[in-house]
Amino acid sequence: MTNKREIKSHWRSATRLVHAGQSRSGFKETAEPIYFTSGYIYENAEEAEAAFNNSQPRFVYSRFGNPTVAMFEERMADLEGAGAARGTASGMAAVFAALACQVKAGDRIVSSDALFGSCQYILADILPKWGVECVFVDGRDNAAWAKALSKPTQAVFLETPSNPSLRLVDLETVSTLAHAAGATVVVDNVFATPLLQQPLKHGADVVVYSATKHIDGQGRTLGGVILGSQKFITETLQPFLRHTGPSLSPMNAWVLLKGLETLELRVTRQAASAEAIARQLSGNPKLAQVLYPTLEDFPQRALAQRQMSGGGTMVGFSLKGGKPAAFKFLNALELVLISNNLGDAKSLATHPMTTTHQRLTAEQRAAQGIDDGLIRVSVGLEDPADLIEDLEKALAAA
Ligand SMILES: *Cc1c(COP(=O)(O)O)cnc(C)c1O
Repeated sequence: MTNKREIKSHWRSATRLVHAGQSRSGFKETAEPIYFTSGYIYENAEEAEAAFNNSQPRFVYSRFGNPTVAMFEERMADLEGAGAARGTASGMAAVFAALACQVKAGDRIVSSDALFGSCQYILADILPKWGVECVFVDGRDNAAWAKALSKPTQAVFLETPSNPSLRLVDLETVSTLAHAAGATVVVDNVFATPLLQQPLKHGADVVVYSATKHIDGQGRTLGGVILGSQKFITETLQPFLRHTGPSLSPMNAWVLLKGLETLELRVTRQAASAEAIARQLSGNPKLAQVLYPTLEDFPQRALAQRQMSGGGTMVGFSLKGGKPAAFKFLNALELVLISNNLGDAKSLATHPMTTTHQRLTAEQRAAQGIDDGLIRVSVGLEDPADLIEDLEKALAAA
């Protein structure tokens, strides 16, 4: 009934991003169809019975699986080199499910401390209420990881580069330590994108994305995805998803499939612009520091070169005048928009201290490298010369 697109093993990622995972219906349509259906029918009672006892794999209900969502999942698994993937309604649903599906009261999680605000909330507030101990370490410090992982641990969670201070975690070293402690390594790979860093190749077990960011990349929809081995996805994650229901809508999965078709073009352009901006702003007298993984003075440049194939689409910089200067800078921008989103076609600037990381104490922010003058810019698809002009003009005004 459906015809699976054959993907040649020698095709490169930009090609696979356009074709992988597509199943054509009998109409032989060019684009992926949107299967806007909640349920599926059976020819007879025996077929329904077989579907429910899993002896005949097929779609039974869109909370468990849907053909459009499955195309997105297969395209993502192909890109990441993962055994399988599951889509979710948002990035946070992906992070929560990837952790909650594998822990129980009495278990222990070790996490890097520099995290997206809601990831931090899950680990510091929600899971401890349910009897899961969460230990935070400075993700840059391999000795701190070794110490924290000297006890049996169920899971490790980390973001690299971290949001917003672009701190890196050594994926190979931490994965080796984690595995010795019995832990499954879960990496939130949003900042790097699946094109510039593939954590599974560096020893991680599970990768999660907010597909809201670069994968849609055009500010239209929320989405998330969890990738791992076939065994982890089907045996550990799938029962949790199936019964808790953070399902991705087929409409949103279709938007994300279209996003994947242009992911390579967009990320390549955005990362090149981000690097040009970081280089141009380095040494600006209004700035105390400029953060970008491929800059010569980036503290973890050697590690970035080992595990990333590019610096990414995000630039961080700190204004010397703290919060008042940061606000003057933001308010003087004409082209770059003030927004807490990222990975969009439109360039977006945010002041983490007063927005995404407002909930943290001053000490917690300091520990994560979020000073009062820090600005995070998500570099979009505009002409980089226009972006540099806008940023330099706003800095002069700050
Ligand atoms: C945005 C983001 C999330 C959450 O994703 P949503 O799609 O907004 O739920 C998680 N981790 C990181 C690093 C993010 O940037």
